[in-house]
Amino acid sequence: MSDGDWRLMGQERYLADAVLTWATWRPVKPGWDHDHCAFCQAEISDRPIDEHTAYNAAWVTSPDQANWICPVCFADFQVRFRWNVAQAE
Ligand SMILES: [Zn+2]
Repeated sequence: MSDGDWRLMGQERYLADAVLTWATWRPVKPGWDHDHCAFCQAEISDRPIDEHTAYNAAWVTSPDQANWICPVCFADFQVRFRWNVAQAE
């Protein structure tokens, strides 16, 4: 199901029909200091935005917060992956 977009690497296996919430990034485990967008690998962390950190908040799978998706990739792939948006708590 690839149309050649370089960001698509089989994410359908774990992100199709996912429930996503918009969240400010925070460590989910002690010592964890950043995540990457599951598609474009942009860095998402609580550090200041700079050449390394692209976002301080992004879409995240709910409720496990295992996979982060940046706003650009969310917009590009929301229809393809049939994401459901949950209200933030
Ligand atoms: Zn992205």
